[in-house]
Amino acid sequence: MAYLNHITEAIGNTPLVKLNNVTQGIKGTVLAKVEYANPGNSVKDRMAIKMIEDAEKAGILKPGGTIIEGTSGNTGMGLALAAIAKGYKCIFTLADKQSKEKMDVLRAMGAEVIVCPTNVAPDHPDSYYSVARRLNEEIPNSFYPNQYDNVSNTAAHYETTGPEIWEQTEGKITHWAAGVGTGGTISGTSKYLKEQNPNIVTVGIDTYGSVFKKYKETGEFDENEIYAYATEGIGEDILPKNVNFDLIDTFIKVTDKDGAVMTRRLAREEGLFVGWSSGSAVYGALEYAKEHLKEGDVMVVLLPDHGTRYLGKIYNDDWMRQQGYID
Ligand code: PMP
Repeated sequence: MAYLNHITEAIGNTPLVKLNNVTQGIKGTVLAKVEYANPGNSVKDRMAIKMIEDAEKAGILKPGGTIIEGTSGNTGMGLALAAIAKGYKCIFTLADKQSKEKMDVLRAMGAEVIVCPTNVAPDHPDSYYSVARRLNEEIPNSFYPNQYDNVSNTAAHYETTGPEIWEQTEGKITHWAAGVGTGGTISGTSKYLKEQNPNIVTVGIDTYGSVFKKYKETGEFDENEIYAYATEGIGEDILPKNVNFDLIDTFIKVTDKDGAVMTRRLAREEGLFVGWSSGSAVYGALEYAKEHLKEGDVMVVLLPDHGTRYLGKIYNDDWMRQQGYID
């Protein structure tokens, strides 16, 4: 019989799909790595299971333990899946700008969710980073994966996403583009791909309100770059260890509006019902592609999660109008 022993065994081996309509006027081929096909509906399943298994191997996570993480939702889903498979409890801290759907999904998976204010500095005691750290100190036998600085995050993509893309493109990939949050996806995949072919160009997608692009270009951590923005999952006000700037050739910033509008186009024109950061990734990748892609080039852009988590926002016409994103 062809069955898996647990749904976590279905993580990875996601489809690579050609973009046919949003790419008009672009030379070369643009392929989307569709990560909502993972069982937790996002790319973060890959690193969540790897962080748990590496912690078990290192003896940091023991039977009956509690996993505590600050997460924008998708990592929480991946960790919750791994926790169910392996018998751990989960507590997640989220910033209050995250969609309600993400919080409901985590609760549905048996996790405890603590909502923290978005507009406080990362070192403020109420930030979702600080609350996660404090709970980890207070709760015995708890494990704080810290996806920002935990190198198992990058390693998961070096071991799975990179090889999958290399095999699916039969080594023909010339450009690799992905949004940058913790940096695990872009860095781990880029490391693997550049080891196979050092000429592959890696394009990081950043948001307005985030520090990455300026830091890459000047080496300066510029606090003036930091302000509130609405896109979920990419851009940061910190420099996570998983962002390896040597493996990212260039950054493109995408506005909340451009990302949101492209997300809806991906659903309607490509049949890809994806989340906001997928629209940002494609918008940014195509901006780069317009100028740099040549006939015969193959660009792969990663779509991190599924559209259900944004039904109340991106896929709600009233909300889109209120934001001024559509007329
Ligand atoms: N998009 C979404 C929706 C995410 O949840 C994340 C994770 N923060 C990313 C993009 C960025 O991925 P990474 O953390 O690997 O840089």
